[in-house]
Amino acid sequence: MISGTCLCGVLRYELDGPLRGLLHCHCSRCRKHHGAPFASFTRVAEHQLRWLSGQDQLIEGPAAGRTRRSCQGCGAVAPVELGEEQLVPAGNLQGELGLSGGEHMFAGSRPEWHVLADGLPQHEAAPPGWTAEAERPTVPGGPLPLMEGVVPGSCLCGAVTFAMSGAPARWMQCHCSRCRRARSAAHGSNMFYPAAQFSWRSGRELVRSYRPPEAARFTTSFCSLCGGAAPTERENVPFVLVPAALLDTSPGGRPDAYIFVASKAEWFTVPDDMPQFAELPPR
Ligand SMILES: [Zn+2]
Ligand SMILES: [Zn+2]
Ligand SMILES: [Zn+2]
Repeated sequence: MISGTCLCGVLRYELDGPLRGLLHCHCSRCRKHHGAPFASFTRVAEHQLRWLSGQDQLIEGPAAGRTRRSCQGCGAVAPVELGEEQLVPAGNLQGELGLSGGEHMFAGSRPEWHVLADGLPQHEAAPPGWTAEAERPTVPGGPLPLMEGVVPGSCLCGAVTFAMSGAPARWMQCHCSRCRRARSAAHGSNMFYPAAQFSWRSGRELVRSYRPPEAARFTTSFCSLCGGAAPTERENVPFVLVPAALLDTSPGGRPDAYIFVASKAEWFTVPDDMPQFAELPPR
């Protein structure tokens, strides 16, 4: 038995095996929807998925291209029909998955800070036989006029926009189980900007946040219109967490490290020589 849950527990479903492999999608829409450097999906036939709860508590994003659905409670990505199959985010699954490796798709769309060195097959765009929409630029209304050194970011639908100046204080690729379930992905890529370097440009009132009751600090945020990831700003915390996937231009530099690698998904192999820490890095 394979079970799927979002971070807040509203979305619950079961899958019957066997699962149809792994596809790691680097398209800009998946990155913005998940708030992760790439999305990892498995596929099953329609009858292999059973919803237990939450099917009526979904945000359905603007219908550009294929349907995208997210949990109203925490923003995690929900399974969705694609042709005769269900596309299921692997980051939300537990049980005997029997998954490993996989193939990269839309690898040509990934940001330049994301190095792909895991030796898996790569498709620059869609794999052969894939019926989903082609990649299109997602910056709504074109690039925004910004000063040099200022990096703009936006959610999947473009209603939430913001900007950062200078470099982040920390930039961590996090494998903790909360990031995996909130981002519905192998790992998050979380930039921590000093609050003074971050500003909202639009849609701040559309951002919803979820903090698990047992969590001291962990909070995830999403756009209430599209369900896509959004920055997390908290009272009395001097840093704003910005998912790197939301940036619309290059921030320069690369992430600092992989963290909470002891909690990583068993189907995921850390692909490069960036420093790794079992949990948090030393201060
Ligand atoms: Zn949820
Ligand atoms: Zn995609
Ligand atoms: Zn949005």
